[in-house]
Amino acid sequence: MGVTGKSLWDVRDSSPIREMLEFNAGFAGSGAALSYQSDKRPRKKVAVLTCMDTRLTALLPAALGLKGGDVKMIKNAGGLILNPLDSTVRSLLIAVLELGVEEIMVIGHTDCGVQGMDERTVVSHMVERGISRRAVLDMKAQGLDFHQWFTGFENPQDSVRDSVKLLRNHPLMPEDVAIYGFVMDIGSGELKRAV
Ligand SMILES: [Zn+2]
Repeated sequence: MGVTGKSLWDVRDSSPIREMLEFNAGFAGSGAALSYQSDKRPRKKVAVLTCMDTRLTALLPAALGLKGGDVKMIKNAGGLILNPLDSTVRSLLIAVLELGVEEIMVIGHTDCGVQGMDERTVVSHMVERGISRRAVLDMKAQGLDFHQWFTGFENPQDSVRDSVKLLRNHPLMPEDVAIYGFVMDIGSGELKRAV
C-alpha cells in the first residue's frame, strides 16, 4: 500500500517528490481523505480560470472563501486564452456542458510571471537547454505561433479583457453562460473587476 520501492526507484535522490511520495503513503493510509470528499460537479456552478502562479495556490481560494468541491479551477501560465482552439477552452466547455457550470470567472493577477515575457529570450533559453534551432523552425512550420505562446502581456487588465472577449464570442460557448473578468492584487488578495 502507498509508496513502494518500485514507485520511488526512478525519482531523483534529492527530489522533493520523494518526500511527497513518502508523505502520501502515510496520508492514504490514515483515512484523512474522507474529510475532502465532495462532488465532481462544482457546488457553486462556477469555473475559475486563473494563473498557475505559486502564490495563488493557497491565496486565491482563501481570498474568495472557496473550499474543495465549490468550483472548477483551471490554471495555465498567465490565466490566458490565446485563441479559440486553446486547450483551456476545451476545459471550460466541458465544465459548462458536462459538469453544470453556469458562470465563469477569468482571474489575472498583479506581478504575473508572464507579464513582459519576451519570445526571443524564451527561445534563447531553449537553445541553452539543448533544443536545436531546427526544432524551433520545425514547430513554427507546423503552425506553432511562438509569438503568441511566448510573448507576455503588458498588463493583466488587458489580458483578462482579451480572454473574456474571446470566450464570450466563442462560437461553441452557450449564450446563457455569464463570463466575468477580474485582476487579483497578489499582495492583498483584493479582486478588482476588469470586465
Ligand atoms: Zn501569473
